[in-house]
Amino acid sequence: MSRKILLSGIKPTGRVHIGNYFGAMKQFVEMQNDFESYVFIADYHAMTTVQNKEQLSQGIIDIALDYLAIGLDPKKVVLFKQSDVPQVHELTWIFNCITTMPYLMRAHAYKDAEAKNKEINVGLFDYPLLMASDILLQDADVVPVGQDQKQHVEYARDTAQKFNNIFGSTDSTGSPRVSSPQVGKENGIFKIPEPFILKDVETVPGTDGRKMSKSYDNVIPLFATYEEIKKAVMSIPTDSKGVDEPKNPDESNIFAIHKLLLNDVEKEALALRYKNGGLGYKEAKEGLIASLEAFIKPIREKRAMLSGDLETVFDILKEGGKRAGMRAEKKMEEVRKAVGVSVY
Ligand code: ATP
Ligand code: MG
Repeated sequence: MSRKILLSGIKPTGRVHIGNYFGAMKQFVEMQNDFESYVFIADYHAMTTVQNKEQLSQGIIDIALDYLAIGLDPKKVVLFKQSDVPQVHELTWIFNCITTMPYLMRAHAYKDAEAKNKEINVGLFDYPLLMASDILLQDADVVPVGQDQKQHVEYARDTAQKFNNIFGSTDSTGSPRVSSPQVGKENGIFKIPEPFILKDVETVPGTDGRKMSKSYDNVIPLFATYEEIKKAVMSIPTDSKGVDEPKNPDESNIFAIHKLLLNDVEKEALALRYKNGGLGYKEAKEGLIASLEAFIKPIREKRAMLSGDLETVFDILKEGGKRAGMRAEKKMEEVRKAVGVSVY
């Protein structure tokens, strides 16, 4: 049996953080042996917010280094940048035409931006359909993401179903075979993807307790220096409980981050120290700093080494782009036939 297909991506919108890692990137590494994997740099997605040439270029290079430093193996994973697969825009247009505005208006990201009275560009509004195209063009079965992206994967599922229903499936020559909705669902051009979200991670909180996010100033960078780790951890607000007072670990942001770095036994032991009293916030923070440094140091060093040979990194991306692009083109040929623009 052929292996299931995994696809996921990260936007080059700033330094990746431990929320990105535990929410998504770690799964890419752990799953690369068992899945046919496609992992990309979502550079065109980033343009909804990053509109600066140097920043975008540097961001792309940074994510490529990040992926390699955490252990993605280019022999196992097709690593590429979204902009090397221009077919996604062609498909996005087709999806635009079968999607209603009210449906897109229900997207959390759009509603948030609207609630905050932000100026909303068309790219942000259309974001779920560009993401659907990324996923569906590669025939992904699973999409490992953080909880905040669950709705976007649902958009991809709905859009695949809608397309399959409208345009039916095709036979091996690409000509439309059926137009019945039932058959379209099970046997359509697009596979229906599943999100893959780890229950015990879901959303990693930032130093201020909100979702850790590149766009907020609340991150612990995944490749932080020791000084940066210290500064970020020290900025976590705490209540006024004294050293001896018992504390509820589930209410502590320090613990919420620390537990990601511990095995079950260690997690239990630390939780008990919170509950029993005697653990002050200063010591709790020092413990978190030590755990973070132990985890980050080796990958930080690996990343520094990789950054000395960007040519190799670019070659990996170019090769990945070719492979992902070939698959996308094959899929688009089917799509063009199905919608009717392929007349010769
Ligand atoms: P931005 O603020 O630009 O949206 P981000 O930090 O949310 O940046 P993304 O590039 O949007 O990062 O997301 C990359 C992946 O990391 C996605 O799968 C997303 O679900 C996951 N992710 C982001 N933040 C968190 C978090 N705090 N906890 C768990 N997963 C997260
Ligand atoms: Mg995000």
